[in-house]
Amino acid sequence: MQNKKGRKELSYNPQITVDSDSGIIAANGVTQDCTDHHQLQPQVEMVEANSGELPVGTKTSSDNGYFSGSNLRYLERKGLDGYIPDSKQAQKHKGKKVVDSPYSKDKFDYDEANDQFICPNGDVLVRKGEYMVKGKLQYSYSGAKCSECPFQAECAGKGKKKKITSDDYEAERRRMAAKMQSEAGKEEYKKRKATVEWPFGNIKHNMKFREFLTRGIANVCNEFNLVCTAHNMKVMWAKLCRMGISLREIVGLVSGQAAKVAAN
Ligand code: SF4
Repeated sequence: MQNKKGRKELSYNPQITVDSDSGIIAANGVTQDCTDHHQLQPQVEMVEANSGELPVGTKTSSDNGYFSGSNLRYLERKGLDGYIPDSKQAQKHKGKKVVDSPYSKDKFDYDEANDQFICPNGDVLVRKGEYMVKGKLQYSYSGAKCSECPFQAECAGKGKKKKITSDDYEAERRRMAAKMQSEAGKEEYKKRKATVEWPFGNIKHNMKFREFLTRGIANVCNEFNLVCTAHNMKVMWAKLCRMGISLREIVGLVSGQAAKVAAN
C-alpha cells in the first residue's frame, strides 16, 4: 500500500473494534488503504453482523485517523455516541504544542440554521461559492466587512477579505468538537487507550505476532482473523479461570453439548 510519504510498500493496515467491557475483538479487518477514513463504517457493520444491532446511544471512540465528515454523519444517523478528535485535539492529546490563532476557523461560530459563520468581530460570512477539490464539494464563505475591522491584518491579512472554506459536514464537525472539548468527552476518550491498545499489545508482545506470514489481501484477512480469534480465546480463557471454571468442566460441558447434538 502507499505509505504516508507517498511511497509504495508491501504492507497491510489491520483494523480491530474492541468491546471495552470484555476486551473481546468484536470485528476485525485488513485493508491496503493507508488511511483509516473508510474503515469506520465497515467495522461498525461487521460488529453488528457478528453481535446484532448496536443499541442507540452506544458509545464508540476512534482515533483521529477515522475523523471525517461522512463518518461523523454516519454515527449520528445511526444514533451512536461517537468520540473522535479532530487533528488539533489529537495533537493536544499527544502532548504536542498546537499553534493556535484567535482567528482560525474554529474561532468562528457556525450558524447551522442559516449556514453562515460569525467571526470574532461579530460579522457574518455567508456562502458565496462552491467548487470541487479532489472530487469533493467545497463551499467558500465570505462577506464580512473586513476593511473596516481593527483585526483585519491578523485575521485576513493586510488589505484582504477573510474567506472560509467548508463542506456539507460543518455542523457534524462542530458538534463533535464541542463534545470532545467537554470534560465528559475527554474522560470518555481516555478509556480508548486502555480498550484498544492492550489487544494490540497482547497480539504483538504476548503472542509475538509482528508481521503477516501470508501474502495477498484475502490470505492476510484470514490470517488476521485467526490471530484475533486466538486473542479472544485467551481473553475468554482468562475470564473463565477467574470465575473458577476448570478446563475439565469446560471440556465436560462442550462434550456434553456435542453428545446432545449427536443424539439429536
Ligand atoms: S477581518 Fe473580517 S472576518 Fe476577520 S474578524 Fe475582522 S471582520 Fe471578522
